[in-house]
Amino acid sequence: MAPKVLVLGSNFAGLTAALAVKHELQDDVEVTVVSKDDRFIFNPSFIWIPFGKRKPADITFPVAPTFEAHGVDFVHAEATRIDPQHQQVATANGSYGFDYLVVATGYREDFSPIPGAGPGGPAHAITSLEGAVAAGEGWRRLLADPGPVVVAAAQGTGCFGAAYEFVFNLAYQLRRHGLRKRAPITYVTAEPFLGHFGIGGLPGGERLLGMFLKRTGIQAILDSAIAEVVPDEVHLADGRRLPFRFAVVVPPFVGAEVVRTSGLGNASGFVEVQDTYQTKGFPNIYAVGIGTAVSVPWQTANPVGVPKTGFPAETMAHVAATNIAAQIRGQQPAKRESFAEMPAVCIMDAGNNGVVILADRMLPPRKHGVLIPGPQSHAAKVAFEKYFLWKTRHGYVGLP
Ligand SMILES: Cc1cc2nc3c(=O)[nH]c(=O)nc-3n(C[C@H](O)[C@H](O)[C@H](O)COP(=O)(O)OP(=O)(O)OC[C@H]3O[C@@H](n4cnc5c(N)ncnc54)[C@H](O)[C@@H]3O)c2cc1C
Repeated sequence: MAPKVLVLGSNFAGLTAALAVKHELQDDVEVTVVSKDDRFIFNPSFIWIPFGKRKPADITFPVAPTFEAHGVDFVHAEATRIDPQHQQVATANGSYGFDYLVVATGYREDFSPIPGAGPGGPAHAITSLEGAVAAGEGWRRLLADPGPVVVAAAQGTGCFGAAYEFVFNLAYQLRRHGLRKRAPITYVTAEPFLGHFGIGGLPGGERLLGMFLKRTGIQAILDSAIAEVVPDEVHLADGRRLPFRFAVVVPPFVGAEVVRTSGLGNASGFVEVQDTYQTKGFPNIYAVGIGTAVSVPWQTANPVGVPKTGFPAETMAHVAATNIAAQIRGQQPAKRESFAEMPAVCIMDAGNNGVVILADRMLPPRKHGVLIPGPQSHAAKVAFEKYFLWKTRHGYVGLP
């Protein structure tokens, strides 16, 4: 019987890992994906949902047909228990055995350090599909009754890029509606300096982000933590109170609960991995994507998380798939690529403008790093979204 590879999660990392290992070994492997979501969700486009520029259907697609077309079994279920020793994963609908496991269960928003933030509260979030849709209601109320706006990248978040993108898109949309002067914007961030992005910054980044903020008239408060959110006010840890009519908080991320309770994850539910993406304790259990633990070579006054974005999530998945295929063929899992050494490739959208971010390494020390501003960045982000959704829906995970 062919060895069984079980993948938990079906987004950037899980879908890529499952299809890559199947493409590599064809009939010599049985691949099953178990996932809480039955849709692929293109999170980078959440920033456009509140403004009506994207609807959920534009940035999602059902994964079952994609997997079926490539000979991968798909189970729509949440993993509730992972038993690494007995090589079993439990779900509400039954248990699944494995010879090799790939944990690609991603992130959860953690609002617990910020009382008052979270679903149903006075501030919105754009880091989940539901949150981004709900933020659209807040946005429409702001259009009807303009007033001060706060966008905050909270202490511990690893998603500063999305916070910058959202605040610049918001300024752009307010300008388009002729309301910019009636809705002053404050950007609060835990970053020690502008453009840190959770990757330690890039040459010229601080100056460039400063210029973008100045040009769009956004006031920035750096190196800050949020104490709480109450109706109509964000309270900072230093005692400052920021009134708002519309607020968005980008919260810290943690890993899936099942990962933490299974003992595979650290206290935040992120999985410590080797450069092969094998977990430290189990050579047949891999973890890939945003749910992996990454340590950083700096300390900041307020915690600043690392952005484990789509490109590294896919890279990790390919490394893991190659190594699983090697193990199944009786070879050593020799492919290695550390997160720190992967190139950084990202586009920060600003509505009708943006910045392309390129660096030779994700984390310092780097030899090269460049930020290229201009309207072409916005066009590139839109084109990339279309290309990526096309490529992924068809399961062409070998394409760049
Ligand atoms: C607002 C926002 C903007 C972003 N912008 C960019 C950008 O511009 N560029 C970029 O490269 N990246 C961006 N990112 C980051 C990007 O979204 C992540 O890198 C990517 O989502 C990581 O993919 P993943 O597969 O590791 O995890 P996830 O996308 O979190 O997927 C996790 C998967 O696991 C499943 N799952 C979770 N728990 C369980 C369970 N218990 N059992 C079974 N399945 C489970 C989920 O259903 C999902 O399918 C952005 C993220 C956000 C939130």
